[in-house]
Amino acid sequence: MAATPNCQLVEAAVLAAFPNARFGRYNCRHIGSNAIKPWSQHAGSEPARRYFGNALDIWHVDHKPAGKPADSSPAHQTWLRAVRAFITLNYAPIVDQMLGPGDNAAHANHLHMSTWPKMKSNWWYTPPCKGGELVVIHEDGTTGTTFEEEEMITRNDKADDGLGVHDQNFQEAVDAGVMSSFTQPGGVAFNDEIATFLARAGVLNIAALEARITALEASGNGLQDGDTVKLNKV
Ligand SMILES: [Zn+2]
Repeated sequence: MAATPNCQLVEAAVLAAFPNARFGRYNCRHIGSNAIKPWSQHAGSEPARRYFGNALDIWHVDHKPAGKPADSSPAHQTWLRAVRAFITLNYAPIVDQMLGPGDNAAHANHLHMSTWPKMKSNWWYTPPCKGGELVVIHEDGTTGTTFEEEEMITRNDKADDGLGVHDQNFQEAVDAGVMSSFTQPGGVAFNDEIATFLARAGVLNIAALEARITALEASGNGLQDGDTVKLNKV
């Protein structure tokens, strides 16, 4: 099931840059499956447009055994931090929330992210997946009734869209503390790994993203709804 437009944009970009990424999207439930907590953005849906879920859970395919939760090994956490840095560098304007390793125990084994506009989530609200009307909240506080795409300027829109921009972005991320330079137990330099990912990202363009989104929708890529339950906490 396709996620909301901005979640789809991020998903397509992540998958293009990190082919081993897998995603959980839709789950009609409250945060932590706790009925007295607000609704999860995973419940955000717009059935008329076949959008289900305004949040992504992201993990590496090799770090989630079938039927089991993803692992929180150092190698997986390193990879998750790379994905997080990629999203932060390129899509910060449409990211509502992002949680991953280092934030809390529940997110040591995957990334959770949601996008603007987000679904109203008060616990007394009835979302479309429970038969209610859709209410979305934009970053400026205004409300609407659809998950239309937010205006966004990405790093990839810069005139110099070559690898030099990504090298610069990488250094900015290190300087800002978004990423840290360290070496995995296996001896693979984190910086080299990141550089490879960002080099791939350098060839992204909107037409390619749109093609990827179309392919994703056609293929139903990703796990089934029930598979996301163990991972989703937010
Ligand atoms: Zn999640």
